[in-house]
Amino acid sequence: MAVFANRTSGSQSSLREANLARIVEEITRFGGLTQVEIASAAGLSTATISNLVRELSDRGLVETRKVVRNGRRAFLVTLVRQTGIGIGMHIGQRSLRIVVGDFTHKVLLAKHLPLPEMHKPDTTMQRGVELIYEMLDSLGTDISEVVGLTAAVSAPIGLETSQIAVPGILPGWDDVDIKGKLSESLNLEVHVENDANMAALAEFRDGAASGIENFVYVWADYEIGGAIVSRGELVRGVTGLAGELGHFQVDPLGMICKCGNRGCLDTVVGAPRLVSLLSITHGDMTFQDLVDNAAGGDPGCMRVISEAAVRIGQAAANLCISTDPEVLVVGGLLTNTGDVFLTPFRETLHRLIFPNALDPIDVIPGTLGKDAPAIGAMIRSLDAAVPAPTAGSSQRSDAGRGDGGA
Ligand SMILES: [Zn+2]
Repeated sequence: MAVFANRTSGSQSSLREANLARIVEEITRFGGLTQVEIASAAGLSTATISNLVRELSDRGLVETRKVVRNGRRAFLVTLVRQTGIGIGMHIGQRSLRIVVGDFTHKVLLAKHLPLPEMHKPDTTMQRGVELIYEMLDSLGTDISEVVGLTAAVSAPIGLETSQIAVPGILPGWDDVDIKGKLSESLNLEVHVENDANMAALAEFRDGAASGIENFVYVWADYEIGGAIVSRGELVRGVTGLAGELGHFQVDPLGMICKCGNRGCLDTVVGAPRLVSLLSITHGDMTFQDLVDNAAGGDPGCMRVISEAAVRIGQAAANLCISTDPEVLVVGGLLTNTGDVFLTPFRETLHRLIFPNALDPIDVIPGTLGKDAPAIGAMIRSLDAAVPAPTAGSSQRSDAGRGDGGA
């Protein structure tokens, strides 16, 4: 990331680098600005801006063209358009979701495959690869246009290894070299990330948390995931396990969890447990049925979801007390039930996080829906492919980076 030199040394050249970075940041924010507008935003003279813009143009980062603004001729400065597409692949407990999108983060195509319980890594990845080729084909493009792929996996991912860091959480996938296998099959740069982290990245860059630099994210879905964004960056911890909300202990005498611990939140509100609570009254039902019935007003299903919301809210409150965020963003299938989930979740948080605090933490539902992890993974792929015009100049552009070597 040596597009701009370090801006902290205080020398004349680092001041110049800081100004260059500042200009790129302003253009990124507004899409395109005239030199006069940049001068005004940056608080510098138009002569200085003209000089700096020429340097950015020489470095291949921006392009200029003549336009008329308010009846006067002006130079419009825009970022050089990036071409290529990125792929996000969400490998969940029971589904595989793939999104393909371009550098504006526009999703060009999204596809979904249901997966059997205890799905096998080789079969699942092979089906994913075939689906990617089909999707590219129907978009009239091919793999040569793809700049990278990120797999967002429903398990904690080790920072150093890019592999599942806690055995047993995604059964059958321990020790699988997801990065190696996918990059070999597709001949692409591949990254592997935790799904809740990628959903948080998506909501931060393009969704409910846009412009909010400090938030806690809760992925309330088949299992419960959590993520922390602080000062515009994902907090990953030393090994990559930060914010694993599903494995907060909530019942010391509860069931043994897949992680080996006892009474984790996932054992209490994970999909299999919630569905099992209705076995006598509702017979065999899927997690999707449970959510649909609750949204449709079925009293038993509503009761199960609203009580789960309280348990998840209790654990999320602990995460909020540890991190002191501006807001909490919540996504995942459980939020499809609207107020059935959100009202008790919000009430629990407000009851448990310093009830006397002057400014209670806002709870806002995510806006990107079920594809949030895959969209975040797509953004991660695109970020990794760009020599980041704003790298070093904006913490925001760094969110999602930091998988050890980035
Ligand atoms: Zn656990």
